[in-house]
Amino acid sequence: MTFVSSIHASVSATSALSSNGFNEEDLVSISQKYPELNRLLLATVKINLANNKSDSSQIELKLYSEKNNDAYVVTKSGKNIEVEKIEMKYDVLVKSVEGVIRHTLYESVIRELNLPDIAEKLSESFQDEFTSTKGLKKAAQFQFDIEQYFDHGTFIKYGQIINASLFVRKAISKKSYQFNPDKMVWELLPENATLVEKPFYLPVNSSSISSLFQLNRRHPVTKKHQPHNGIDFRAKNGSPVFPALDGEVTTIARSRSKGKYITILHDNGYQTTYMHLKKIEKNIKVGTMVELSDQIGEVGRTGFATGTHLHFGIIKDGFFVNPIFLLKRYSFAQKDQNVEIEPEINEKNQMNMEISDEDIEEDK
Ligand SMILES: [Zn+2]
Repeated sequence: MTFVSSIHASVSATSALSSNGFNEEDLVSISQKYPELNRLLLATVKINLANNKSDSSQIELKLYSEKNNDAYVVTKSGKNIEVEKIEMKYDVLVKSVEGVIRHTLYESVIRELNLPDIAEKLSESFQDEFTSTKGLKKAAQFQFDIEQYFDHGTFIKYGQIINASLFVRKAISKKSYQFNPDKMVWELLPENATLVEKPFYLPVNSSSISSLFQLNRRHPVTKKHQPHNGIDFRAKNGSPVFPALDGEVTTIARSRSKGKYITILHDNGYQTTYMHLKKIEKNIKVGTMVELSDQIGEVGRTGFATGTHLHFGIIKDGFFVNPIFLLKRYSFAQKDQNVEIEPEINEKNQMNMEISDEDIEEDK
């Protein structure tokens, strides 16, 4: 007769062994041979009680390391204890978890999947763009894919978060599990964060940024909470605006909130948008193919803007993404200077922004 049971909880090797028929003496002899077993926090314990005819007191425990693929098969037959260290070849399935974000991301993830480590990792990786839903009128959502490790059909533990996304209205922030060459580790990083060659040039000869992409931001003027769907570049009134990449002009319009604006579609599938323009060049029409060196307009403060600035947005698959990970640190005109300009970010002075993205949507 074989009795198999599984404990799906994080337990220490010592407590798993002592609660399954191993006495003090056994524990001492095991820890002398395998001192690492004491240090490991084990994800799960699988117990096989094999009561066959020759030996009715055989106990077998399989202890899985939470941190890596090591496992230990501990067998007790009468007074004889054997420990075999093995490397697990897990069957990996991917589980998709999604939900509505209420208050913080941490609390919302815990509600769907009660794993504090995972929830903490997720909320940490999004902290630059999102802290809480405070003040947001419309729902924010999260979705992530996580590995599940199985041993012969028995679920053992969760593995890596493969990717994760937050959605707030038309803004999306997506992260994926990538190698970080700076830190030499694999971690959850923003999509495109490790791109060696960023596809887009700065659209103005200025790298002074007055506001970054945010999934929830309290607007300094209206006090409304909403995503900031792009980056605001500070530039003088009338400064030339250039396409961030060659492309085809798909929209030229004027709206109450965006002011005069242009949208360009690029071969790489992204669209870029340029708002609050003072003027749009006369030769630029819908359908015009524009090149990096073609001036398309001038920086202004048309629409709901309290000061002169360029609001620059990047759209992928209908969602605004964070432009910072797709932008070079220089404009096309500055490319020969061979100097990477670090963007000067001054989030404290946020007066140069459009009044409301709420109105932007309304005008679409
Ligand atoms: Zn803006």
